Amino acid sequence: MMCIFCQIVNKEIPSYCIYEDEQVMAFLDISQVTKGHTLIIPKKHVESLLDCDDETLAHMSKVAKMLANRITERTQAKGMNILSNIHEIAGQSVPHFHIHLIPRYQNDDAIQITFNKSQPQDFDQLVNLLK
Ligand code: AMP
Ligand code: ZN
Repeated sequence: MMCIFCQIVNKEIPSYCIYEDEQVMAFLDISQVTKGHTLIIPKKHVESLLDCDDETLAHMSKVAKMLANRITERTQAKGMNILSNIHEIAGQSVPHFHIHLIPRYQNDDAIQITFNKSQPQDFDQLVNLLK
């Protein structure tokens, strides 16, 4: 299998690992959007959060919280973006589920999250569709 994150799990290619247990691994993103930018992945290959089993996902969440706190303490970050891109249209470039931990610093200018102009919607129809 040529999945780059599976290769990292199998130690076929190197990574800067900061946490590992039976189910997950966390390593520094090769492209450090900010200092300490970390990826958490399940060891078992799934394409995205949508395909992850509930037990692994719950564990990923716990590890994300633990590492987000650790990174914040040790880097003196002022905040954190925690996100997962799902499918190419949403910016996913590696098709192995991963959670980004991106520490934020004063005036880092690293990420700008802006929502474009909202589109009119039929809220009654939407709530029927989605509830
Ligand atoms: P995404 O675009 O949300 O799928 O994020 C994929 C991330 O994986 C990007 O931020 C890349 O910089 C990172 N990445 C790709 N290859 C490696 C690698 N070999 N080691 C660490 N991070 C990587
Ligand atoms: Zn994989």
